[in-house]
Amino acid sequence: SRKEGVYNFAAGPAALPPEVLARAQASLADWQGLGYSLLEAPFTSDEFKALLDTTRLQVRAALAVPDRYQVVFLQGGASAQFSLVPLNLLPPTAMAGYVETGHWSARALEEGRRYGRSHVVASTRGSGFDRVPAVSEWALNESIHYCHITPNETANGVQFPGDPDCGDIPLIADMTSEFLSRPVDIERYGMIYAGTQKNLGPTGLVIAIIREDLLGQARPETPTVFNYQLLIDRQNRINTPLMFAIYLVHLMLDWIEEQGGVETLHSHNIAQSQTIYRIIDEDDFFYCPVIPEHRSIMNVCFGTRDENQQQRFLGEADAMGLANLAGHSHAGGLRASLYNAQPDAAVAALASFMTHFRQRHG
Ligand code: PLP
Repeated sequence: SRKEGVYNFAAGPAALPPEVLARAQASLADWQGLGYSLLEAPFTSDEFKALLDTTRLQVRAALAVPDRYQVVFLQGGASAQFSLVPLNLLPPTAMAGYVETGHWSARALEEGRRYGRSHVVASTRGSGFDRVPAVSEWALNESIHYCHITPNETANGVQFPGDPDCGDIPLIADMTSEFLSRPVDIERYGMIYAGTQKNLGPTGLVIAIIREDLLGQARPETPTVFNYQLLIDRQNRINTPLMFAIYLVHLMLDWIEEQGGVETLHSHNIAQSQTIYRIIDEDDFFYCPVIPEHRSIMNVCFGTRDENQQQRFLGEADAMGLANLAGHSHAGGLRASLYNAQPDAAVAALASFMTHFRQRHG
């Protein structure tokens, strides 16, 4: 059992549904009647192969993934993809485009530069990452092999309002902090990847959805265990996969289905974030650095206009059981992360705390 009355607003690893944690716990005693736990099961077993197949199918079903896309599980966290995407998909002399909208897209760009020519097709750095640039403002041209975006910037609280259409140029999206929080028009993307530690729980695991025609061009130096095509050919079992993490994702996908799927969760996520944004916008005590149309429904980034109030806010919130509300170390300020599993009670408690804090200190 855990301490009562604590709500976790961390940006990831993030809050998980208690019922999923209980199901995961059961697998530690005896998995599928084998007489030993999942942590002790061979990855070559029929039971684990079936789990991999089921989980892949669940991802397909949850996002209506078309047949010409492959679903693959990867290791190394989302950051590893900043290098593995170019190694697998970018010929050595080709040019990659990047849309820079905040901390994580900047990290992807910085790493990508080590593997080939990179071109920033659009950036909102000049305006403090307060918005995302419209596709019409992107400097795209035919020499760009693919274009990388971060649809939800976890540290800056900026989110694309929909799936951008950049025509024939494959769009590569780091959906780490919005994966499975909304329906996605998969056809708009060449590849989607997401670390699972936000909406799905475990760290280290990445789910990638890749259009088949982009595969099979990995550079010779690409590590075998990170070669997308080889991983697909060998049913995701080149080396020992992140078995327990994949099992947690399977349980979370069951849970997502029980909630009514990504459409239901999307409406719910919008409603939760609006509750907090409404309080921020009510007067001048709090502020949000992002324009209303591009505010994240996952990571509500805000601050107190009087900077001296920020530490007091965090201290009092923590004492009330509202944990992990500090902003990202690079962005500063405050941040409430409202992933799929965040209960309404947590949002209500935060809303009430914010209102009372403002009354007392405003
Ligand atoms: N990309 C985004 C959008 C993120 O939010 C994060 C982590 O917060 C990462 C990448 C890095 O993920 P990982 O720690 O799995 O490498």
